Amino acid sequence: MADQLLRFMLQGGSVRGEIVRLEQAWQQVVQRHQLPASVRDRLGELSAAALLLSASLKFEGKLVLQIHGDGPVALFVVESDALGGFRATVKCRDAQAIAPDASLSDLVNRHGKGRFVVTLDPGREQADKPPYQGIVPFEGDTVAEVLEHYMQRSEQIPSRLWLASDGECASGMMLQKLPEQASTEDDRHWEHCQILADTLHRPEMLASDNETLLHRLFWESPVRLLDQHACHFRCSCSREKVAAMLQMLGKEEVDSVLGEQGSVRIHCDYCNAFYRFGADDCEALW
Ligand SMILES: [Zn+2]
Repeated sequence: MADQLLRFMLQGGSVRGEIVRLEQAWQQVVQRHQLPASVRDRLGELSAAALLLSASLKFEGKLVLQIHGDGPVALFVVESDALGGFRATVKCRDAQAIAPDASLSDLVNRHGKGRFVVTLDPGREQADKPPYQGIVPFEGDTVAEVLEHYMQRSEQIPSRLWLASDGECASGMMLQKLPEQASTEDDRHWEHCQILADTLHRPEMLASDNETLLHRLFWESPVRLLDQHACHFRCSCSREKVAAMLQMLGKEEVDSVLGEQGSVRIHCDYCNAFYRFGADDCEALW
């Protein structure tokens, strides 16, 4: 089934994994942005990756993955939560100049100044905890490699990712070697699972549902499904939040925009919603 994430165990419990497939949920992002294919597909891969990483979050906050670029793409950003909600957007400096087959490095690391930023925002439930932020230099040629490098630095758990996306679908799988298992046999299992998963190619990932892929890859040993949940596009913007943001800006600033433009218009880069505050709406803020 599409728009769903499955969590599973392999090889008698020494390797855990997650697999996600987005169709409608991904198309809701695609429809909202006019993006060159190379940019769109990297955003799809980052969206699938964010859902894989946030599925095991222990809190109700959100995970934010950002790739800050020094090339034609200034920023990729995906926000996701443990309940399968996500939103994603891109800021391009020069969308016209982007080749349909541009690599991730071409897009964001042209001068070697790309950065990958992971933020864990604990959310309102744990407002006393500050957000965690990890920043690493851009390393790798694909979204999967950039994330693997980050995970190597930040987590002690060996992890691998396989990602694919086009205009219809975004798909991803993550395997992790469980830390409590340290026997040579478990090392061999881990190697073997990666060799099997490395046979996955983009067209197959895009064409097949989660269950079919798992069955094809790991047919020789039982896959134990742990749980599954639906994934969906969800933007957290609202008129109330925009009003709060304007209050933060202050009356002087807001009045100055009102004076120049007659109203204050705020656009949400994630979902394309427009919020218009006329003179009366602005007056009601104070
Ligand atoms: Zn929005």
